[in-house]
This record gives sequence, C-alpha cells and structure tokens, in this order.
Amino acid sequence: MGIGATGTVLASSQQDSDRTRSFEAAGPDLPRGTHRMIWSIETDQPYLALTFDDGPDPDFTPRVLEILQKYKIQATFPVMGFNVEKNPALLDATLKAGHEIANHTWTHQRLSLQDDKVTKEQLHRCHDIIRNYSDTPLRFFRAPRGEVSGSCIRYAQEIGYTSLLWSVTRGPGKETNPRHVASYMSKTVRPGSIVLLHDGIGAGTFNRQANFARELHEKRSVEVKALPEFIERTLESGMEFITVSKLADIGK
Ligand SMILES: [Zn+2]
Repeated sequence: MGIGATGTVLASSQQDSDRTRSFEAAGPDLPRGTHRMIWSIETDQPYLALTFDDGPDPDFTPRVLEILQKYKIQATFPVMGFNVEKNPALLDATLKAGHEIANHTWTHQRLSLQDDKVTKEQLHRCHDIIRNYSDTPLRFFRAPRGEVSGSCIRYAQEIGYTSLLWSVTRGPGKETNPRHVASYMSKTVRPGSIVLLHDGIGAGTFNRQANFARELHEKRSVEVKALPEFIERTLESGMEFITVSKLADIGK
C-alpha cells in the first residue's frame, strides 16, 4: 500500500480497496493545504535532537530521564496514550525535566493496516489523555514504525500536528554491544539529525512475556546502555542536543 498523489490510499487487496472507498467517501470533509513531514532539519548549526518512543515505561523512562539530566539535555518523547494512562507520574517527571511530548498513538497499532475510524481514535485518544494531564505544546505526531497512511496524515493535520519521522537509528537491530551502537550513532549523526531511540517496547507493552516483547526489551536495554557514550562522543564533536521543536524552529 502507498500514498497516491491525490492523498488517497492505493489499495493492494479487496479489504484495502474497501478502506480506500471509505477514505474517499469523506471527500467534502477532506483537509486542504499542505502537510509537513520531518525526517531531519536543514541546518548548518551544530544542533540535533534525540527522540524516545513508546513510553512512559517504568523499566526505561526513569533510566533515560536520569541520563538526560546528568548531561543537562532536553529531548522529545513520542508517548503511547495507553502508557500515559498507566504511568501519569512518569509523564509528569518527563515534563518537569523540561522535555517535549509528542503523540505516538494510543496503543501502537500499525496504521497502514487500520481503517479511517481506528486511525482517528488512535491519534485522538493519545492527544486527549496527554491533555488530561498537561497543556504542554503538542506539535508532533510520530506514526508507529514510521508507517504513514493517508488517514494518519489527515488526522495528524486535523489535530494540528506535523508528522515526525527520523534520520538516524541505533543501527543494526541484532547488535547487542552498547559500545558498537554508540559508535554507529556517533558516526551517523550530523547537524539537524533526528535520532530515533526508545523508552518503551511499543506493541510488546500488551504481551510482555511474548518472545518478540522480550527481544524488544533486550534491544531497548542495549539502546539505553549505549546512550551515555553516544551523548559524550556527540558533545565532544561540538554538537548540542535540543528538542525537535527547537531544532525545527532554527531550521532553514
Ligand atoms: Zn513506537
């Protein structure tokens, strides 16, 4: 499935075709104008942004906050609404430390496989639960796994979000040595980079004992262990970490 030039979802099966029709049927209500999608920011200034997806999660968020506090860094946290409802104190701690919050849907569904109605609910429920606890500015929506659909762009636009992707990852998923992960990321970043990391386990949240959830937990642990060395190497190179909002504001 892909996104057509007119904004309709290109279908690859009968089921998808039905979804396309329901999306097109909304014709007169479709949004107009342009929608911004960010992978990285164009800038010569020595700034980049860290993003942590899937939290707040008691296993990871406190560790990430502690590391960021040690280096006096502010980052952007695309949160899952379900996890906000479960862990409001962690959302509060994240906000109190001056970090930025973004929308990462309610339960981390693959939006490319969901219909218009589910997609709308996924974005709105996450937005609303954050708003239950805070009036912090919410500028960015990040689709789970970066799987962007026509509906997801529509509802991101409707709520007022910019779609946020990333330009740097932790590297090969099978890498278990935090030093190698830190080294890979340090070599990959440049001014304007947006780095994808995690303080939660996404869909694994709902079945923590499943093999894929355990593997994700391991993988996230490696990311968090790599974080201090990656931060130190990046700071030594003369770059500074800021939130995605600040990075977007200084971009060309
Ligand atoms: Zn995620």
